[in-house]
Amino acid sequence: MKIVMLGAPGAGKGTQAKMIAAKYEIPHISTGDIFRSNIKNGTELGKKAKEYMDQGLLVPDELTVDLVIDRLGQEDCQKGYILDGFPRTIPQAEALDAALTKRGEKMDFAVNVDVPDENIVNRMSGRRACAKCGATYHIVYNPSSKGDICDVCGDTLILRDDDKPETVQKRLGVYHDQTQPLIEYYSSQGILKTVDGTQDMNDVFAAINSILGE
Ligand code: ADP
Ligand code: ADP
Ligand code: ZN
Repeated sequence: MKIVMLGAPGAGKGTQAKMIAAKYEIPHISTGDIFRSNIKNGTELGKKAKEYMDQGLLVPDELTVDLVIDRLGQEDCQKGYILDGFPRTIPQAEALDAALTKRGEKMDFAVNVDVPDENIVNRMSGRRACAKCGATYHIVYNPSSKGDICDVCGDTLILRDDDKPETVQKRLGVYHDQTQPLIEYYSSQGILKTVDGTQDMNDVFAAINSILGE
């Protein structure tokens, strides 16, 4: 099963993608996580990506596409994967389709987690992330049982720099300009499925499951 997650920053793509990946035993591939791990390890890619991420801008396609296409060629992607945060531009989606076609494959579902802008700033300002293991929490909707300590690995949780309200507004603008057109792109391929992302996370998960089980 090959799935693309679409939705605004903070819509809940990562939260859902992790649950789907666990249920279907497929890898969860998050370009945001890949960039953040490169930043943490001080790689050249990390240094370049950080300049854009800190400003709420997209990392250029040249630095993003090959990275993902290579990742999809790895052994653990044989029986499918869930893409979270990629593609984010039409050229990225076209490059992905070209790579799939070359391998005689195709995307099965594009799941659009729909959340209006009004809800997003609240979601993002309450998001806490574990820089060590990548777990994500929300101070109100999904808190860690240990306050600001990660339930999974015990590291201290942080508010991402790019989740501060000024940067969130910028990222929302970028989303509408560059990423939202993918909804039409996948709709015209006949694989778009939209779920109401304002529901409780378990209800969103149930809605996605019923789509994937169709
Ligand atoms: P969120 O989950 O809040 O939408 P991500 O973790 O997916 O955020 O991404 C964080 C940042 O990483 C983005 O704002 C962008 O700068 C960069 N990024 C992630 N994925 C991509 C991509 N496919 N293309 C370009 N930039 C990306
Ligand atoms: P994305 O990957 O789309 O940027 P996340 O999955 O990181 O979004 O979710 C953004 C924030 O909102 C996190 O703090 C997360 O715990 C919280 N969240 C996710 N889904 C829901 C939901 N259905 N209701 C309330 N909060 C949610
Ligand atoms: Zn952790």
